[in-house]
Amino acid sequence: MELEKLLYKYFGYRTFKTGQKEVISSLLEGNHTIAMLPTGTGKSLCYQLPGYCLDGQILIISPLLSLMQDQVEQLMKFGVKRVVALNSFLDSEKRGFVLGNLTKYKYIFVSPEMLGIPSIIKKLQALNISLFVVDEAHCISQWGYDFRPDYSKLGEFRKKLGNPLTLALTATATKKVRKDIIQSLGLQEFNKIESTIDRPNIAFYVEHVPNYYDKPSRLIELVLQLQKPGIIYFSSKKVAEQMASLLAEKGINRVMAYHGGLDQEQRILIQQQFIHGQLDVICATSAFGMGVNKENIRFIIHYHMPMQIESYLQEIGRSGRDGDASIAILLYSPGDEQLPMQLAEGELPTELQIDWLFSQFPHRELLDHHFLEGNLHLRDIGGFSEVQWRIIKEFIKNPQVPSNPDRLKQSLKEFVNERITVKKDSIHYLKKWIKSNSCRRDLILDYFEEEAIKEKVSNCCDVCGVQLDQYNAKESAQTYPANEGMWKDYLANILLNSELSE
Ligand code: ADP
Repeated sequence: MELEKLLYKYFGYRTFKTGQKEVISSLLEGNHTIAMLPTGTGKSLCYQLPGYCLDGQILIISPLLSLMQDQVEQLMKFGVKRVVALNSFLDSEKRGFVLGNLTKYKYIFVSPEMLGIPSIIKKLQALNISLFVVDEAHCISQWGYDFRPDYSKLGEFRKKLGNPLTLALTATATKKVRKDIIQSLGLQEFNKIESTIDRPNIAFYVEHVPNYYDKPSRLIELVLQLQKPGIIYFSSKKVAEQMASLLAEKGINRVMAYHGGLDQEQRILIQQQFIHGQLDVICATSAFGMGVNKENIRFIIHYHMPMQIESYLQEIGRSGRDGDASIAILLYSPGDEQLPMQLAEGELPTELQIDWLFSQFPHRELLDHHFLEGNLHLRDIGGFSEVQWRIIKEFIKNPQVPSNPDRLKQSLKEFVNERITVKKDSIHYLKKWIKSNSCRRDLILDYFEEEAIKEKVSNCCDVCGVQLDQYNAKESAQTYPANEGMWKDYLANILLNSELSE
């Protein structure tokens, strides 16, 4: 059947979005495919639709629980029942049931940690996997902004599964990162489908706030005036909480904070309330976003300076998915780069910590990540954060690292230094972008080695003259009834409607 007919039959859409048809055709012709499509362009459909044409199962590797949850729901919304997510969210009883019945599912979502469990990979090996999908594939590359050590083993897992037909999906990857994805997955021949990173309906607006302490009052003004819904991103959980309370105090009631410190149920609840229009504003950390499939987000504000252009684009890309005008505002005050610098350094162990660790165990035990796993008091004595400890464990786990302790220590230090350089370079680049007097869109396109757009979009960026008040909430056109009797009916009507909408 023609692809358009399948699209309409199973998903109810008449036309493909940019890049979808090319990706799907490439896969159905049996080609491994790496696709870089902008956020919100419907990347999921690129593996959802082939599910109707391919015999075996579709295995999707996805980095975040919330993202997986959303993708499962998306498929269920289209009436697909044979879908399951294998992640730490499943209790052991449910996991046992799912693993015992894997052949019954068509779409299997799995977290990379789960693939590391031998009994799970064994179950997956027994299936007929017709498509191996790596979602958010930039997580594979250590040059990528969101490198996940778990992701770097996907090539190995893919091999264990018999090198099935593969689709790598990402929205933001420089050429270097794309090269890494291909190498890491072990793809020899493949098709590349790349569409522009640009989202013309999102305007860029950098606002220079003279002093960091002026930001709260400016934020309140902005949130009061802007068309909602919107997301405000913070680099700190605490500030996200504080600002959510402050906004609520100032009369913006439908606001909540969302960050990794909340438990899973709370997070899912807040996400759902936002998606279903019961909340107008989310004060979030980067924990919020991937997979938030809400079409009408009108603004994204960055209260703190992001750590890199890629994550910034991902975050602002959550707005304007309906194609309507939206705005991405970044509040910058002098010295703001200090916070991302500190965060970047804090994510990695220091040389001093590495020296200390190796001095404690100058011989073989250290080379075993299981040993580190069971030695949390060592982590605490050395003052390692969870992230730092995980990085060391993952590094040591890699079969390619030297076995000699001195050389191992040295290569760990080199790895850490490289990561810090990558992170600092990104922050410097972003600062240059903030301070620049050139078109912000052109600079971003240049970063991704894309050509500048010849015809300027109408609402491009602050440098090109975007006016903020264009993005204000429209005055309500409501007219109120003139006499008392009519008022009663009017109020009753409002009450009735609000009951219905609950
Ligand atoms: P992303 O590229 O960010 O992963 P998603 O796959 O989550 O985007 O899709 C974004 C939205 O676009 C979803 O609501 C999806 O149902 C919708 N969508 C996908 N393909 C089409 C299409 N061809 N026509 C209209 N809407 C589509």
